[in-house]
Amino acid sequence: MNYLSTRGGLAPARFSEVLLGGLAPDGGLVVPEQYPRVDAATLGRWRGLSYAELAFEVLSLYATDIEPAVLRQLTASAYNAQVFGTDEITPLSPLGNDGLHLLHLSNGPTLAFKDIAMQLLGRLFEHVLARSGAQLNILGATSGDTGSAAEYAMRGRRGIRVFMLSPHGRMSAFQAAQMYSLADPNIFNIAVDGVFDDCQDMVKAVSADLGFKQRYAIGTVNSINWARVVAQVVYYFRAYFAATQQNEQRVSFTVPSGNFGNVLAGHIAREMGLPISRLVVATNENDVLDEFFRSGRYRVRGSAETFQTSSPSMDISKASNFERFVYDLVGRDGERVAALWRDVDARGEFDLSASPEFAAISRYGFASGRSTHSNRLDTIRAVHARYGRVVDTHTADGLAVAERWREPGIPMICLETALPAKFADTIREALGADAPRPAGFDGLESKVQRFALMPADVPMLKHYIAARCPLAAA
Ligand SMILES: *Cc1c(COP(=O)(O)O)cnc(C)c1O
Repeated sequence: MNYLSTRGGLAPARFSEVLLGGLAPDGGLVVPEQYPRVDAATLGRWRGLSYAELAFEVLSLYATDIEPAVLRQLTASAYNAQVFGTDEITPLSPLGNDGLHLLHLSNGPTLAFKDIAMQLLGRLFEHVLARSGAQLNILGATSGDTGSAAEYAMRGRRGIRVFMLSPHGRMSAFQAAQMYSLADPNIFNIAVDGVFDDCQDMVKAVSADLGFKQRYAIGTVNSINWARVVAQVVYYFRAYFAATQQNEQRVSFTVPSGNFGNVLAGHIAREMGLPISRLVVATNENDVLDEFFRSGRYRVRGSAETFQTSSPSMDISKASNFERFVYDLVGRDGERVAALWRDVDARGEFDLSASPEFAAISRYGFASGRSTHSNRLDTIRAVHARYGRVVDTHTADGLAVAERWREPGIPMICLETALPAKFADTIREALGADAPRPAGFDGLESKVQRFALMPADVPMLKHYIAARCPLAAA
């Protein structure tokens, strides 16, 4: 499998290079030259596989330069009950008896779906770095879920250090404790005296210094990482097999969305041949994506227009993976995509509402909706009253939107993207009681915390990194 850039320029050709790289040199995102089609016989065979075996089958279609025996070993080591608490990895459970389901993606070490891709990514990184004798210093900014998933996936891994910036005092107590209580010597938590945007600006400034970036082998694990997207394709297949008896049936999915990474994986599963009826994109008040699917207009927001909500992992103002879908939508025309993103850079938006491609968008199965704080509270209460279950705020956004897109006879699978214990305040507001906390997390907030406190100062950050990294080989 070779790779291309969504903007028509060159991309690193092989999976192992794509794995460690960021954007393509022309500023586009890296995509496979085509999506492999899975025929009926293969789908039949995949139905009986364990999660780890299925992950191996899906990944081996895209990671053709990783030796199969290694890939099999890495998927087995990531996807087992020691890491995810259950051999099923992503169990599916019914809500009521009319075809509504929850897909539990949050049984990993940090209780959010990002663990699923990140646990494999950590192992892939370690393998590819060991193969070339290289080091990687991951620099990132987090407002909660991504940073902790990355740290838990990379802790103790040879050749890798993580420098993670977070806004001091602005994460939930649970999220802060999860990250700051890690004691592994290759994990460096930096609490910045500022907001998330300050953290992100510092990361951008360091990455823009190409000399520094190269000298210290700085990399990222952000949501545009292609391997993360592929790893997420696996659970769409898995959920389909769990919800159906045979491979002619169709199902729909609803996905609480922010950077469009999760639902993009659903789109890819559908392009590979999985019989998906609808892919419902659920947003919160930050409704860039809902606006696009309703109107054909993609309009990114400034920070003044980006709301802080009670489903914070979906508080995004531009959806970084969206370009990969638009590339498919416009017939994989890189020049067209480059022109659309020039419009975004110049005017903050592009408009496909009058285009024939948008007129034909229904062939991709997408639907969308937005949910608000009061929808979330109502949904958390209704799900609790009706089914005796507590769902988190992001999952509640999904459930609220899914209701509007049910089709008779077609199962609707809602992705549970985090556990409610992570968002205690809103659960208390909705239910007047605390969210259940999974075993092993008692007393988390009283563990010793370890982090460096720093002003939003780029030279200081560079100095901090340089003091902790040997120079990368020239
Ligand atoms: C990251 C995240 C999302 C959004 O996923 P995207 O892939 O960015 O669309 C939704 N819910 C939770 C809990 C998350 O952590």
